[in-house]
Amino acid sequence: MDKTSNGEPHVTSTPEGARRSTEHQRKVARVVEMLRRRKSTAPLSRRKRVVSHQVPKVNDKKYTDDKIDLTDFDEIIEVDLERRLCIAEPGVPFCKVVDRTLPMGLVPIVVPELKTITIGGAVAGCSIESMSFQYGGFHDTCLEYEIITATGDVLTCTPDNEHSLIFQMMHGSFGTVGILSRLVFRLIPAKPFVHLRHETHTSIDSYLESIWRHYELQDVDFMDGIIHSNTHLALCVGDFVDEAPYTNRYDWLKVYYKSTAERREDYFETPHYFYRYDQGVTNVHPKSFLGRLLLGKFLGSSEILRLAEKLRWLLLSDDRPDVTVDTFLPYSRLKDFLLWYEQDFNHYPLWCVPYRRVHDYEWLTQSFWSAMKDELMVDIAIYGMKQRGSTNYYRLMEEKLQELGGIKTLISYNYYSEDEFWTIFNRPNFEKVKARTDPNNIFRTLYEKTCQASMGQG
Ligand SMILES: Cc1cc2nc3c(=O)[nH]c(=O)nc-3n(C[C@H](O)[C@H](O)[C@H](O)COP(=O)(O)OP(=O)(O)OC[C@H]3O[C@@H](n4cnc5c(N)ncnc54)[C@H](O)[C@@H]3O)c2cc1C
Repeated sequence: MDKTSNGEPHVTSTPEGARRSTEHQRKVARVVEMLRRRKSTAPLSRRKRVVSHQVPKVNDKKYTDDKIDLTDFDEIIEVDLERRLCIAEPGVPFCKVVDRTLPMGLVPIVVPELKTITIGGAVAGCSIESMSFQYGGFHDTCLEYEIITATGDVLTCTPDNEHSLIFQMMHGSFGTVGILSRLVFRLIPAKPFVHLRHETHTSIDSYLESIWRHYELQDVDFMDGIIHSNTHLALCVGDFVDEAPYTNRYDWLKVYYKSTAERREDYFETPHYFYRYDQGVTNVHPKSFLGRLLLGKFLGSSEILRLAEKLRWLLLSDDRPDVTVDTFLPYSRLKDFLLWYEQDFNHYPLWCVPYRRVHDYEWLTQSFWSAMKDELMVDIAIYGMKQRGSTNYYRLMEEKLQELGGIKTLISYNYYSEDEFWTIFNRPNFEKVKARTDPNNIFRTLYEKTCQASMGQG
């Protein structure tokens, strides 16, 4: 892993980088001043330019909280070709990074599949994608964070300086430990095209064997999959290539996840591979051909989420919300999970993303990690399932995941009791970090934010 040789913050190496760095420092100074002047200890939420990729909730208190304005934290400060690094502000969406770096033959190591997920949101909210079987999450490819504390201190945090715990706890913090104001992350060489093969499996066993084989051999650049049912499982493996006989894109009439059931292989321009799910992964809107013909081109994930946020009172319900959830399971328990899921949920397709355990994240408890024997985890994502009868399917999932040694990310509805929550998430580590970064709890605790305030409680 690249590090600065003397443990100092990464600095820019070009005049343009230095100019942008000075602009960045001005923005930081504005936020610091605002925080230091603020007398109130009422909760504070962020305002950013692009839409949030959290499941919109009707009564989320973030809509009524006081705001800190981070809309201008959306610049790439520098791309350092020699060190293969990018220094950027948290509000930069991945599509802007890729537009900038791909012409130089580089891309971020983990590029989440929705165009406007931001680099800051990817760290604080746990983003993954089809290179995660090699590299883990986007956070695992980051080298340094600049963090503004609630009291207006500016900290440079790296995995090995005195703020290493703050660095690690920013991942999955959902904004509860401080404001991420600048990131330094690694880039890898990329090619202009991606060649994808769709393996079709008719049993869970053969699917799992193939995932394991590719994981062990590390013989492909990309691996994810679509589970159409327990007897029709597509594993999509791919590589960067220099040339392509044709290319496809799935941003209008054609829907990518459907292609995994119909095609054996595919070619993409690299950005169109990265954003192949941008129409909503497996919950694509509009669904009909006519709807897609008329509106498909204009309704990517950002537009759909923005509409859902604006019309949330009309379109959504906090009582019986549709189920959209990311689960992480130990590889060895995936078969048990899929068999149970078929009985109790039976909603397909599912998105499947193998994820290497590169680091035992400090935000999860010791007991969680000591029960985890696997080196490979698998993210199974469910999008837009209607709840049936009186069952709370979110809660059902929370209970099953605890039984199987898995977790879910906190992007949607969470029904844990507080005691139960802190058997999974590492309270002592959060408290240690918050004592330094948010002593008056203006960003809320992780439990308050994701299990209470997001649903209008507390
Ligand atoms: C419908 C849907 C589809 C999804 N599909 C994918 C997918 O294909 N691939 C994938 O990897 N993930 C996916 N996700 C999950 C997504 O990666 C995470 O929700 C991610 O956090 C979104 O990033 P964002 O830029 O939208 O951040 P936001 O949603 O704006 O923020 C995420 C969290 O991070 C906090 N945060 C944001 N910026 C900062 C900052 N500067 N400092 C401190 N905290 C901050 C926010 O307070 C919030 O709690 C999906 C989510 C949804 C709802």
